[in-house]
Amino acid sequence: MAKYKMPRVELHCHLDGSLSKGCIEELLGRTVAEEELGVSPDCRDLAQYLEKFDLPLSVLQSEAGLKRAGYDFIQTMHNEHMDYVEVRFAPLLSMQKGLATDKIIASVIDGLEKGKNEYDVEYGVIVCAMRHHSYEENLAMLKAAREFLGNGVCGADLAGNEAEYPMSEFMGLFREVHRLGFPFTIHAGECGNVKNITDAIECGATRIGHGIAMRNDEAVMKLCADRKIGVEMCPISNLQTKAVKDMSEYPMKQFLDKKIMVTVNTDNRTVSTTTMDKEIDFIQKNYGITADEIVCMMKNAVEVSWADESVKDRLMKMF
Ligand SMILES: [Zn+2]
Repeated sequence: MAKYKMPRVELHCHLDGSLSKGCIEELLGRTVAEEELGVSPDCRDLAQYLEKFDLPLSVLQSEAGLKRAGYDFIQTMHNEHMDYVEVRFAPLLSMQKGLATDKIIASVIDGLEKGKNEYDVEYGVIVCAMRHHSYEENLAMLKAAREFLGNGVCGADLAGNEAEYPMSEFMGLFREVHRLGFPFTIHAGECGNVKNITDAIECGATRIGHGIAMRNDEAVMKLCADRKIGVEMCPISNLQTKAVKDMSEYPMKQFLDKKIMVTVNTDNRTVSTTTMDKEIDFIQKNYGITADEIVCMMKNAVEVSWADESVKDRLMKMF
């Protein structure tokens, strides 16, 4: 990608799904097989895809493990020559051994900060509320995360099984999140209904994770374009989870043509066995995405990111 003059920015990447093999092995104290880490090509759906997170989550239950994971993540970003990345994780999933959410978040930020100082990769943390957790649990976590907003944490998200838990059940929670001052994105229209996208925008989401379900829906695509909603697309992951039936149905080009603020992302480097370069090669070869469109998507990413203004300025100057 050296031929393009642009910063390399990613907005949708999960920490647990992106831990390196070496980091997981070190924390587990044993070697792991590739099949334990990544989904197989015959992955049926999002539910099966999500099963791959049990192993990495098992090493994210201590302050040391969380710190190591944050550091590992920045090392991976450095190896991929990334300039800025927003990394997301669900603090509630690291409570199996009783760690408190503020300790969990502080540990991840500690590791990321150590990596940042060593490798000069800028980052922001997005905390994910989970669809299968209660309103009270999610809200308590978000209130703890609020203390880190602007100090490591940059935003919030809703993740988990979208088919089983529609956005309509979380409107109250995200109105609270909005009141707490978080900018937020919602996993919506990944493997669920287009209404999840409009509901998310209605309660204040400025970005949408995936958004595939608004394909061919002129009204919703126009809504996203008019409101400059950032759409975080994850091409390889979206094929693996069967978010589209067929590769030819993938709407990245359609969204770009409709002037939607599309961005390109990896979702989960380890679970999806991908990198930013792989995603870019893949969409150029399979979806006819041009070099100019790649640059446009990186510009979109800077614009809709939740980086500090000084970081945004620095990234913009790299174009
Ligand atoms: Zn995701």
